[in-house]
Amino acid sequence: MKALQYVEIGQPPKVVDIPKPEVGPGQVLLKVTAAGVCHSDEFVMSLPEDQYTYGLPLTLGHEGAGIVEELGEGVEHLNVGDAVAVYGPWGCGRCHMCARGKENYCVNAEAEGIKPPGLGSPGSMAEYMLIDDPRHLVPLGDLDPVKNVSLTDAGLTPYHAIKNSLPKLGAGSTAVVIGTGGLGHVGIQILKALSGAVVVALDVNDEKLELAKHVGADHALLSNADAVDEIKKLTGGLGADAVFDFVGVQPTVDLAVAAAATEGDVTIVGIGGGIAKVGFGAIGYDVAVRSPYWGSRAELIEVLDMARRGQVEVEIQKYSLDDGPKAYEALHAGTIRGRAVIVPGS
Ligand code: NAD
Ligand code: ZN
Repeated sequence: MKALQYVEIGQPPKVVDIPKPEVGPGQVLLKVTAAGVCHSDEFVMSLPEDQYTYGLPLTLGHEGAGIVEELGEGVEHLNVGDAVAVYGPWGCGRCHMCARGKENYCVNAEAEGIKPPGLGSPGSMAEYMLIDDPRHLVPLGDLDPVKNVSLTDAGLTPYHAIKNSLPKLGAGSTAVVIGTGGLGHVGIQILKALSGAVVVALDVNDEKLELAKHVGADHALLSNADAVDEIKKLTGGLGADAVFDFVGVQPTVDLAVAAAATEGDVTIVGIGGGIAKVGFGAIGYDVAVRSPYWGSRAELIEVLDMARRGQVEVEIQKYSLDDGPKAYEALHAGTIRGRAVIVPGS
């Protein structure tokens, strides 16, 4: 089968031909219908050899959807032909975190070598993909896999980040979204649907700011040295009740901290390596800083329900598996509007 693999450190990913995986007991084989392209893949492929821990060759793709092709021995409650979305942050399934559906925070995954698909295990950018356990599949039903596959990360991650701040985002509040790419443009829609906040979107790219407005941002501002003053102006000098940084480089983390109101939340989702300086006087009174990772199984079900109700819609650009490397080039160039989605067989 065809797969898009990261083969050599520092080189672009390649389309290769590899054997179709064979399903073992308790596993599920999917025929992939869609695979999302995330900025985290670019981060992974930018790591030098001594920091790279994902194995080579690596079949990319941690956002996946598919049709059940074959069930391993003992798998129940799924049928061949079912349309499903893949819950990516695989855990052990037994620890206290996993018992609460928070496999993203599994305490055993690292020690047991359990890796998410596309981030250590073979991912969704292939014609077929193996799922280690049926609990990592959520029914898609009538949802279009191509339009909705990215909800498994670009939806789930902002949903998890935002849900924790909802108590601070009642009527009259203000939320700031920094970086209105794949995650950010979904985050804006989640904030508009679930909170009373006025949403201020920041990006460095005018087209992304136009997308931010298109998906519901109340204000769209350039992310620069003036942005904090602009946010203060919009909030009567108080600052934002919650700031979600979907970039995470030093300038955006600094901006996020400076823009937060007293008792506000700063949530750093982007993995750009920026560090928030926290200490008395360095940050507003009682500001809470968090750096979440992905989301829980329950939250994936919730975010898919938001899509069913028309509350979130991912802007997508489709690529064939053969054109997969071009999707990463476009992501790098900053020209993707919303999310690039690879559709095997297209
Ligand atoms: P993306 O490339 O689709 O979007 C990033 C956006 O940020 C783009 O619109 C870009 O123009 C904008 N941007 C770049 N520099 C900026 C700046 N200085 N100020 C404001 N905007 C700026 O990326 P994505 O796939 O949405 O991922 C966003 C980030 O989140 C990445 O760092 C990714 O690795 C990370 N991520 C984290 C998690 C997690 O669980 N914590 C999960 C998924 C992705
Ligand atoms: Zn991701």
